[in-house]
Amino acid sequence: MSAPSLLALWWTGIAAIVFVWLLRTTAPYGRHARPGWGPAIPSATGWVVMEAASLAAMAALFVASGPTGNVVARVSFWAWVVHYAHRSLVYPYRARLLGKTMPVSIVLMAVLFNAVNSGLNGWWLFFVSDRDASWFLDPRFIAGAALFVTGFALNVQSDSILFGLRRPGETDYRIPHGAGFDYVSCPNYLGEILEWCGFALAVWSLPALSFAVWTAANLVPRALAHHRWYLERFPDYPRQRRAIVPFVL
Ligand code: NDP
Repeated sequence: MSAPSLLALWWTGIAAIVFVWLLRTTAPYGRHARPGWGPAIPSATGWVVMEAASLAAMAALFVASGPTGNVVARVSFWAWVVHYAHRSLVYPYRARLLGKTMPVSIVLMAVLFNAVNSGLNGWWLFFVSDRDASWFLDPRFIAGAALFVTGFALNVQSDSILFGLRRPGETDYRIPHGAGFDYVSCPNYLGEILEWCGFALAVWSLPALSFAVWTAANLVPRALAHHRWYLERFPDYPRQRRAIVPFVL
């Protein structure tokens, strides 16, 4: 087994611990913000720093590997870049974060996660994998790529619905409706999880699988916390709506 694959197994074990911790302790930003997590910085800065770390680490490994004939690694790299360029540059701009803050401790934890995660995935993609173009016809790649695009679209669409709930300057929360919100409280998180499950399927590596597991370990507990928060706050919240998995959870 390659070194990044072996490390990814250990890294996935830590995700299991983090999952249990997050079921008890919701990360303190957004509606769950609360004192006691140290100094804070503007949320927009926090998002750019956290997510650009992932972009920078992956780009550094891509460049360090030199010109590569591995077309599958190159396509995977560009999928990564599209996601993280959106998350670090477009999302903070669209999310109307002016006046909001997040703890530096959360930013540092996210930077650490993104550095390790991108490091393992980039290491495997550019220094271990040796797939040729025939992989693009493999059912795993085709299904994974479709899932990645579907998840990305669901994530962006759901975040857009949330942004539309507030007029400029407003900070209050409303009940979101339409598209994925007809089924779950957090279709943006569901989209994100589907996206990285799709990436794992398309790339078919342990580091990519580890990332999908980490994403679920991070976002399922947060979706459960959002869902409880909605139910407590809005007496008219749609009762048939689930937290993150339609009809199930
Ligand atoms: P949220 O769904 O909590 O919030 C998204 C944005 O919409 C925020 O600006 C929030 O404002 C606003 N918002 C949310 N609900 C309402 C509402 N009911 N009424 C009005 N405005 C609302 O998502 P996160 O901030 O946790 O995450 C943002 C993005 O980052 C998501 O797309 C998520 O998938 C992704 N992400 C990915 C992670 C990963 O592990 N890969 C980890 C964390 C996030 P406010 O900030 O005031 O609450």
